[in-house]
Amino acid sequence: MITGILGAGALGLTVALRLAERGEKVVVIEREALPGGLAAGFEIGPGVWLEKFYHHLFRSDTHAIEMIRAMGLADRLEWHQPVTATLRDGNFHQLDSPVSLLRFSPLPVVDRLRMGAALAGLKAMPNPRLLEGKTALDWTRRWMGAKASEVVWEPLLRNKFGDAAPEIAMPWFWARVHDRTQSLGYLRGGFQQLYDRMAEQVRTAGGETRFDTSVTSVRTNNGGFMVETSEGSERFDRVISTFAPRLTARLVPELPAAWRDRHEWGRAYGAHCLVLALDRPLTSVYWLNVNDPGYPFMAMVEHTNYLPAADYGGRHLIYLGNYRPMDDPLMSARKDAVLDEFLPHLERLNPAFDRSWLTDSWMFAAPFAQPIVTVDYRDHIPPFRSPIPGLWTASMFQVYPHDRGQNYSIALAERLAGAISS
Ligand SMILES: Cc1cc2nc3c(=O)[nH]c(=O)nc-3n(C[C@H](O)[C@H](O)[C@H](O)COP(=O)(O)OP(=O)(O)OC[C@H]3O[C@@H](n4cnc5c(N)ncnc54)[C@H](O)[C@@H]3O)c2cc1C
Repeated sequence: MITGILGAGALGLTVALRLAERGEKVVVIEREALPGGLAAGFEIGPGVWLEKFYHHLFRSDTHAIEMIRAMGLADRLEWHQPVTATLRDGNFHQLDSPVSLLRFSPLPVVDRLRMGAALAGLKAMPNPRLLEGKTALDWTRRWMGAKASEVVWEPLLRNKFGDAAPEIAMPWFWARVHDRTQSLGYLRGGFQQLYDRMAEQVRTAGGETRFDTSVTSVRTNNGGFMVETSEGSERFDRVISTFAPRLTARLVPELPAAWRDRHEWGRAYGAHCLVLALDRPLTSVYWLNVNDPGYPFMAMVEHTNYLPAADYGGRHLIYLGNYRPMDDPLMSARKDAVLDEFLPHLERLNPAFDRSWLTDSWMFAAPFAQPIVTVDYRDHIPPFRSPIPGLWTASMFQVYPHDRGQNYSIALAERLAGAISS
């Protein structure tokens, strides 16, 4: 039995590892040159790695923490409490703890207390069953008050989900609050180390990994599958697709209409990050939610206010991030044009900023990076087992109600490996 696993992100590598450890033959096919998917890194200097998109862990990410331990990297996992703030009316307001909420001046004291009580209620709620069918915006308006919703939550939801913000499911919001910890974890030296180790372990266990290989179609073939790729075709007895269901639907024409009607559904955004290296710090915060209007980016993440700039040759690293529809012009814009558009806004964050501080820059865009978790999302999640015998689907689009993250892709893969063996 040979299994073809499509995608070498957290999900594909975890399931590959589990099957290979059982003595099954696996082949992982990945279009990029490196493993890691959305959590993959790039080399910003010889041997110095950074994620293409900002990444950290929460203490609640137990599956990811366990995987890091199992790969022998526990000593590189560090926990810090960097500052998270919200930009409102031109000022930075720290908002990452109950104490900072009490001091959050854009809201009247009574609204701060109400918001604190509602957040504590969500934290204590063991599961979101009672919240099904409700939207995050309605719920926050009702339980935290219109002002708190307008100042804090609506801009956050709009930044992340655009026009779909009013439809976002309350269970997703519950998970964001419930799973979040003040302490954030980072794999010193970059998460790429984790994915390199996982790919190496797959190979040590007898599996194969193929990079720079794009899957172009999957068709049934004599009780198995023929997978066409940019490098040729390969036959497998079983196929596991870790791609977004829409992508799997596109690549597997034999998926029946009933499956498509239900699961080839919904919208997803792409992610875009402009990464800057400066010769000095820009701000004193790690994470800034940009809630003021008129900025071309929705988050500013100053990575070197979390990890020391010395790790990066003294460079100060900043992500300017966005989620956008996949056909948005930003997703295919040239870096020079994006720099010209974004950089003038840095002066609004730090009036002393000058373009001469910029020493280097990189830009990344990825499709299918953020599922749009609307109220009816749950009903459209595909099961692991597809209607085509031997074809399994497991992707971060099947993570619910938790926000997609490395931890939940690893957890899903562990469940899938169990389901395949039963
Ligand atoms: C901006 C941003 C910030 C994030 N921040 C965090 C964070 O702080 N903490 C956290 O834990 N998670 C974070 N995440 C989420 C995390 O990166 C993902 O949830 C996780 O990496 C998903 O892993 P996956 O294997 O399920 O999917 P993916 O990583 O998407 O893996 C799918 C793989 O399939 C490959 N592929 C796609 N099409 C083809 C094809 N045709 N042929 C061959 N290969 C193909 C892709 O290249 C990719 O490697 C963030 C994501 C983004 C975009």
